[in-house]
Parts: sequence; C-alpha cells; structure tokens
Amino acid sequence: MGAGNGFCNGIAKCSMLGHSVASKYTQIVPSRITDLTPSQPLFGLSRAELAAQMAEAGEPAWRGQQLAEAIYRQRIQSVGEITTFPKELRDRLRAKGWNVCRTRIAQVFRSVDGTERYLVEGVAGPETVETVWMPEGDDGEAGDGSEDEGPFGSAQDRDKGQRDEGQRDSGRARATICVSSQVGCAVNCQFCLTAKLGLQRNLTTGEIAGQVVAVLDRQNVEIGRDRVNLVFMGMGEPFLNYDNFMAAVRLLVEEVGLSPQRMTVSTSGIVPGILRFAAEPPEVRPKLAISLNAPDNAVRSQVMPINRKWSIEAVVDAVCGIKLRPRERVTFEYVLLAGVTDLPEHARLVARLVRRSGLPAKVNLIAWNPGPGIPYTMPEPAAIERFRQTLRAEGVSVYLRRPRGRDIYAACGQLKRTVEG
Ligand code: SF4
Repeated sequence: MGAGNGFCNGIAKCSMLGHSVASKYTQIVPSRITDLTPSQPLFGLSRAELAAQMAEAGEPAWRGQQLAEAIYRQRIQSVGEITTFPKELRDRLRAKGWNVCRTRIAQVFRSVDGTERYLVEGVAGPETVETVWMPEGDDGEAGDGSEDEGPFGSAQDRDKGQRDEGQRDSGRARATICVSSQVGCAVNCQFCLTAKLGLQRNLTTGEIAGQVVAVLDRQNVEIGRDRVNLVFMGMGEPFLNYDNFMAAVRLLVEEVGLSPQRMTVSTSGIVPGILRFAAEPPEVRPKLAISLNAPDNAVRSQVMPINRKWSIEAVVDAVCGIKLRPRERVTFEYVLLAGVTDLPEHARLVARLVRRSGLPAKVNLIAWNPGPGIPYTMPEPAAIERFRQTLRAEGVSVYLRRPRGRDIYAACGQLKRTVEG
C-alpha cells in the first residue's frame, strides 16, 4: 500500500482525534516561477529518455546528461534555469513547448510536533495528493538496517565519505518523507480514511518523484549532507501502480542521489507485485513492508477485503522469495484495533506468521488513528503493551511507531485531503 497501506503509511489527518485544530495553521506557499504548459513534461523522464529528446531536437547526447543534472541534481523548475545550456538553446526549447512540469506544494498544514502535511498539485490532473514531512521520523525505520546502508548507500555519501558527520550536522538523521503513489485507493481497508476516496487515478512517475523533490526543496535538504528516509506509505497502493512507482524509485536513486536502503515501500499484500518486487536488483530496490494488520484470514478479510483475493499465507509466502541485503529485515506493519486485532492470542498468531516467512523480520505496531465514520476504537495503552510483550516473548523483534501529525490528519491512515482552515 502506498500511502495507505496500512497504515501503511504514516500519515494522518484527523479530526477525530480530539486534538485541537487551532494548533495548526494553513499556509499557501507561493511557488517559484515554473513553466506552466504541460505540453512536454521533462520531470519524470529517465536520463536515456532525456537524451533521446535532445537528439530529436538536433542536439548531441551529452546535452541529455546536462539536462538530467539540471532537473534532478540542481532541481531546477524551468527550462530557463538550465545554465549549462546556451540562451539560444533554452529559448528554442521553450518555443517548442518544453517544460519541466514539476509537482508543486499548494498548501501546508503544520503539526505541533513539527510534522508537515502537504497538498501537492500534480501535473497530469487537477487532483491534489498528500505528502508528509516528519522531521524526527516515526520510528518506523527502527531496527530495519537503515543505519547500515552497506554497498548501496547514496553515491554522494560514498563519494564524500562524510555520512556520519553530515548526519550530526544536519540534525535530520531520522527525517522521513511519506509519499503517495495514487490519488485515493481501491484497496478499501476498513480502518483507513484514504479508502473513503476510492481510486481516482494513478500518479505518473514524475508526480511520485516530484513529491520528494518538492519537499527536499522546501526543507533545504542537501543530498550527501542530510539523511532522509522515504516511505511509500501515503495515499494509494504502490504495487497497483507498479511501473510508475519503480520508475520513480529509479529516478530518485540514480538521478536525485537517494539511497534505496533508506526507502521503504508498504503493500497491502498484492502478491504479483511482491513477486515482481522481489526480483528487482538490490541497487534500486527499497525495503519491503507488508501491511499485515490481522492474525488470521477471518479477521484480515474483515478489516482488509483484499485478503479474499490473496490470503494471509499467500502474502507471507510471496515475501519469502526476496533476497535481503546484509542486515536488512522485512517489516510487518500491524495496526492495533481495540478488541479486533489487539489480543494476546492475536500476537501469538502473528509470531507464527513472522516465523513462516523464514526471513529476518520485525513487527511495527501502530496504534490505530481514529477517523470519522470508521467503526473501530483506539487500543488501550495496556493492551498495546500486552501485545508487545507477547510478541517479544515469542522471540519477535517489535517496535511501536510514534503517531506523528495527528492534529493535522497526517498520521497513518488519515490521509484524505482534509482541509481545515
Ligand atoms: S485503503 Fe489503500 S491507502 Fe488505505 S491502508 Fe489500505 S492500501 Fe493503504
């Protein structure tokens, strides 16, 4: 699941939490001057595709490399900003209708905990999607090997050899961006606000990668100095928009310079997608999180109807095929719903499923974030602790995700384009 998967994600929007909405503010963010006509969007094209475009314009292939550098490393927003091109070429391309066409942050909601939720305007349709910046993360990455990027850390990190120093300097060692992959979602998890939107459309490659770049710009993130985690857990199910999702990942790794080992994609359990994902090369494959959310098929089919198509065992067995990097672990996300999924006997069944995978794994517990019209109850703190201790006693690594941005509907399962002034 993309953003929503399972709570998947980590976003929230919520009114029902009883938090004061007066603690947040809404701000319209003026954009920089951007090319406006989406006649020929460049953002989202690979380096080879950009080179082909330049060849079509009668230019040598190395101009394509300059173009990729300008778009993804310098993060320009208009053709007029490509300083490595002579003015005559810039003018000619603009006259032909060439545009960068990046997504744009249209609205910002800021939580008392520093989390920011953005409404982001795409370029392929009028709808906005939601992206979340968590400056201190939500502990979702704890224990999954993120701190050891191994041989596939970002190119900048490897080149500069200053990862640790950069981490300390920036104070952003755990900053996390939660990214959407679709407008709405078709998966219909019963505990998720995003499901109420239904699926409106897939996001393009440029719209998925563009959310990340827009936030990097807003937060003045410098690749190679600041360490940022990405979680594809916003709106939508990434594996139901697989090609665009993976093309965006490749851009973010190969062109923007982010590490795949600091990215996690969460799926609701789309088995064909998991099998494809397991075959991706480790140089570009993010880490995998399965939005489990139930101890058995009876409960899972109730809270996640997608389980009727792919059973809980089929999902866990599909995960077995993934070849993990050293110290990498698969994550099982688990939303605790009072009386439905939070009992000790449920924890014992979850431990059995984790063992069935046969892989190094951990469980991330998420105390359900309430939403209007959703018929579940938040778990009691004592029930959360009991569940956690039962899993531990079964020998399972378990972490509790901290809710971030509940007062602005930015927490897990709360992304539904809620706008409150
Ligand atoms: S409905 Fe979609 S967005 Fe919501 S949790 Fe399920 S897969 Fe994720």
